[in-house]
Amino acid sequence: KIRVRYAPSPTGHLHIGNARTALFNYLFARHNNGTFVIRIEDTDLKRNIADGEKSQLDNLKWLGMDWDEGPDKPGEVGPYRQSERKEIYLPLIQELLDKGLAYKSYMTEDELIKQREGQKARNEAPRYVYEYEGMTAEKIKAKQAEAEAAGLKPVVRIRVPKGKTYKFDDIVKGPISFESDTIGGDFVIQKRDGMPTYNFAVVVDDHLMKITHVLRGDDHIANTPKQLVVYEAFGWEPPVFGHMTLIINTETGKKLSKRDESVLQFIEQYRELGYLPDAMFNFITLLGWSPVGEKEIFNQKELIKMFDPNRLSRSPASFDGKKLEWVNNQYVKNAKEDNIVDSSLKQLIKAGRITENPDSKTIEWARKLISMYKQQMSYTGQIVDLAEVFFNEPPVLDEAANKELADESAPIVLKEFAARVEKLAIFDATEIQNTIYAIQKDTGIRGRKLYMPIRIATTRETHGPELAASIELLGRKKALEHLKKTLD
Ligand code: GLU
Repeated sequence: KIRVRYAPSPTGHLHIGNARTALFNYLFARHNNGTFVIRIEDTDLKRNIADGEKSQLDNLKWLGMDWDEGPDKPGEVGPYRQSERKEIYLPLIQELLDKGLAYKSYMTEDELIKQREGQKARNEAPRYVYEYEGMTAEKIKAKQAEAEAAGLKPVVRIRVPKGKTYKFDDIVKGPISFESDTIGGDFVIQKRDGMPTYNFAVVVDDHLMKITHVLRGDDHIANTPKQLVVYEAFGWEPPVFGHMTLIINTETGKKLSKRDESVLQFIEQYRELGYLPDAMFNFITLLGWSPVGEKEIFNQKELIKMFDPNRLSRSPASFDGKKLEWVNNQYVKNAKEDNIVDSSLKQLIKAGRITENPDSKTIEWARKLISMYKQQMSYTGQIVDLAEVFFNEPPVLDEAANKELADESAPIVLKEFAARVEKLAIFDATEIQNTIYAIQKDTGIRGRKLYMPIRIATTRETHGPELAASIELLGRKKALEHLKKTLD
């Protein structure tokens, strides 16, 4: 039975890249009726942030994922936080020490730095050089006792076999092999503070949690040989590995890194802007994976049904913000009107366009306004800019708009329109539209020459949603103000 896991470190919020890892594991588990496990890798105490775990889990849920076992869903192989598993790791570290497969290393940080610097100066690859080389067991014991007496704290290092080739068959990348001599020497499995290192804990946990497939980002690929050393030391069968290619920012052509400010990278940021979770789920699935065929819009059910890890791409995934907007727009267009209205209303309130707890009249008005823009929005936060003219002083016209107004028929249309609108008994879209027809009939001005000046003068834009409806929502007072301002 397939068991996969997503293993976030609570050192930050849910990043697009991590969300993708979680999502592919989730799809793989659900596709195969397997089990999806969440494990919190919080052994790096200094780097954990206060609400890191909560925020990671909240955002996974928001995206529409659920899991079968995790810190909030105890199963048989818990606990699901590494910080709570010390009693599991320590005896296993002791086992390796007892078998002579690991040893205590008392070299200080300063000595290690010096060793590195020496290697650098000699143009050698950085590595840990065995500190007890050529010593008898007794001599080693004596040295360690001496260090202990001097109050030094050891790390525990695992012995890396020399001259060995480690091989694994990566689901994404195909067969991979590593020479043990390139690992960098015996590596640390227990830190000075007593905590196991990532490369040790991850193996113990994946083994004890019966994980069958490890799908993760290829920033971990250099860790895999180290993990194979640990599997070998215990005589455990390693899981199947799949390392997903990195994500490139289409805009810059560079690897998507947390420092890249040209694009938002945290799920929370998209959530705040009013992106829809289903759309995000769909979009992220297409980062380095593709279904057969051209179609790109799929709901979660369809994706679960189709997901095949053999279709994970070998070449880098391209993160394209424009495509993200396009995918979201597809979902906004098809979303239930109420959802979009609620979400957009929140955005308008957050931006201070509408006061908190609006009255029912305002809500009705906002509902019409939002519905009018629904087709156009990629995320509901866009309503704030799209509908700016309805809330603020009329924005100054741009060059294209001024050019349209330069036509000699424009003032005629605007004067007629202003005069008739002022007198309308009922100010609504139907009557406004009838007024426009009447002007056409009376002046003979038609088409673009008729509509464009009215649109520009009232909405201050050369394009936008339905004109008469827009003017109704603008209200008579504002519409007349805008017309007057344009005519002056
Ligand atoms: N905790 C690791 C990370 O956040 C994941 C390790 C793994 O998937 O093996 O990058």
